[in-house]
Amino acid sequence: MKTGVLALQGDFAEHITVLRRLGSETVEVRLPRDLEGIDALIMPGGESTTFGYLMGLYHLKEPIKEMAHRGVPIWGTCAGMIMMARELTEDEPVPLGLMDIQVVRNAFGRQVDSFEADLEVEPLGPEKFTAVFIRAPVIAQVGEGIRVLSRLDDGRPVAVQQGLLLATSFHPELTDDVRLHRYFLSLASAESPETRRPAGAPQE
Ligand code: GLN
Repeated sequence: MKTGVLALQGDFAEHITVLRRLGSETVEVRLPRDLEGIDALIMPGGESTTFGYLMGLYHLKEPIKEMAHRGVPIWGTCAGMIMMARELTEDEPVPLGLMDIQVVRNAFGRQVDSFEADLEVEPLGPEKFTAVFIRAPVIAQVGEGIRVLSRLDDGRPVAVQQGLLLATSFHPELTDDVRLHRYFLSLASAESPETRRPAGAPQE
């Protein structure tokens, strides 16, 4: 099982540390050829406008879209989630359009740039997950094929799944709780209860 982590910018090293703890082989993805042979991809937190620029420069956008359509699991955290979106509430960056969500960047204003919240995350069971939000985006609208895995107390979704695609507003790689990474890897493994299906295909 080989997991690629987009390593253009942002906190890719923290994701790699967690993946190694869980026994996954990892690949730093900087060029299209780094995507060859990977079973899953993580797009980390960072600065989404920089991601948009560098992904364009290194011709990564089309191959990542094509992977999503082939049914390769992809998980975007924070800025990575922004890139997963169908639409943003602003013009820049242009997201990849992999998941049917509309996302608001920097949704929490200056006073609460960063905070932690203990959240229920549906597939992880009743034990709460400490979610770290850093200048975080939030999901404003979800399409029909989207399963909401977690919400803030005010009801806004902050973790969503569509087939084998996952997006979280927060940073699971910055805590010791590896349950979300384990869940993501389970999507890519043969034992996954999810069957491999193209992104957006109807659930049974
Ligand atoms: N505020 C950043 C953006 O809009 C995301 C921050 C993060 O990834 N922690 O891209």
